[in-house]
Amino acid sequence: MLARLSLLILLLLTACSPSLPSPTDAPPLPTATSFPTPEPPLPTPSPTPTPIPPPQRPHYTLNLRLSYAHKTARVVETIRYTNNSPDVLTDLLLAVVPTCPRSFALNAIAVNGVPITDYRFEPDHVQAYVRQRLQLPLPQPLPPGQQVTVEIDFSLILPVVENFRNQDSLCSQIYGYTAAQINLVDWYPFIVPYLPGRGWILNNPWYYGEHLTYEASDFDVIVTFTDGLSPVIAASGEEIESGSPNTRRFRLEAGRTFALSFALDFRVVSTVVDGVTVSSYYFAPYEVPARAVLDATAQALQIYSQRFGPYPHKTLTVVQGDFNDGMEFSAFYFHSKGIYNNYDGTLRNHLIAVSVHETAHQWWFEQVGNNQALEPWLDESLATFSEIVYYETVQPEVLGEWWWFYRFDRYQPSNQVDVRIYEGDGQRPYWNKVYLNGARFLQDLRLRLGEPVFFAFLQDYLSQMRGRIATSQDFFRILRRHTDADLSDLISQYFQNSY
Ligand SMILES: [Zn+2]
Repeated sequence: MLARLSLLILLLLTACSPSLPSPTDAPPLPTATSFPTPEPPLPTPSPTPTPIPPPQRPHYTLNLRLSYAHKTARVVETIRYTNNSPDVLTDLLLAVVPTCPRSFALNAIAVNGVPITDYRFEPDHVQAYVRQRLQLPLPQPLPPGQQVTVEIDFSLILPVVENFRNQDSLCSQIYGYTAAQINLVDWYPFIVPYLPGRGWILNNPWYYGEHLTYEASDFDVIVTFTDGLSPVIAASGEEIESGSPNTRRFRLEAGRTFALSFALDFRVVSTVVDGVTVSSYYFAPYEVPARAVLDATAQALQIYSQRFGPYPHKTLTVVQGDFNDGMEFSAFYFHSKGIYNNYDGTLRNHLIAVSVHETAHQWWFEQVGNNQALEPWLDESLATFSEIVYYETVQPEVLGEWWWFYRFDRYQPSNQVDVRIYEGDGQRPYWNKVYLNGARFLQDLRLRLGEPVFFAFLQDYLSQMRGRIATSQDFFRILRRHTDADLSDLISQYFQNSY
């Protein structure tokens, strides 16, 4: 984001500065004998263009008062939101994911201090009970470059985490509590990205795959426990001084979303690599696999930083989830408790493969955002391909002896990398297309382009799209700046759309 801002400022400065004529452009000096030529008409001064301010990230302050014992919370949220689009906005659209398990109650909402009562929760088109769309009318239209402050007071009654996604339910299987843990993911209303010409980006949930798209934002999260219990906190972002003995405070810049996990019995092992504190939170019997997760995550962080570009945050937190799935969030990912049971002390197992996959999402999801519902291949195929980059650096023989068979060949993935989550034809076929065949496309592309060109492209893609929401068009536009090779056979082999 900083690189993008500086580039924008540079462009603005360039655009605003008059260009100086070079000496060769100077007109010849008139001589005494020459006839005076008519003066050319003076150019009419063009109106001074209104300077476009650099984009401002949304800023979220979340004041969370949590009762760990009662599994309830009261939250006061303040969002400072700048209209970075060229359109005048008359309303805002917020995603409120905890409405799905009916966990969320809105107590009050105000815009610039004015209470708003004519907001609307709109039902999802697929299942009417998924009322995740909060339409918030603005008291005054919001012109480009102007800022608005939204204050939301809400309550949460946490649900039990569903260990397997119920086929009749599209609700989160991470948000909520288990006997050992509370997990807060997508737990606060957030303003979804607005794209000129497209409007607000908020897709419907589906039985598998992720459906949310996030704008890079800044977070200031203050946690207070209200029942005398003091569970261990694992959080996106670094902890800073709260200024109060009873509260804890965390900060994250240019993150997509802020996740938290709490447990009375969490243990933690940590290490520092390249100035980043990596922490692995776990439950007591799992110290050995938790250390293996820590080592693989720290190693992958270093490898991806060298091959793709730097990691942007000061911390990276891994949490052993008391449920059956891994999932990426900003500077944070969950690992399934069940996978820790199968750790065999080598790199040839699911625990390590998933660790380095989820770590890669800190590049492909966190830094380069994408519409996860409509173009999931943009983050998932790159995260799966990144597993190859990890193994070939650390223990290359594992790729041929294990990874290709375990992760890939036994599923015989087929074509159509660019499907929406709704077109996956079931979870396993969806994984095969988007994750596996997507990774094979990238590997084939790498062979076609050669190492220097391929990695120069990936680094450029990261650099240009960091802090933004990339599309397939962006991917191929940037790719074609690095090669004029004919890629039409590869694209038609792997993609249903032409790029
Ligand atoms: Zn993934």
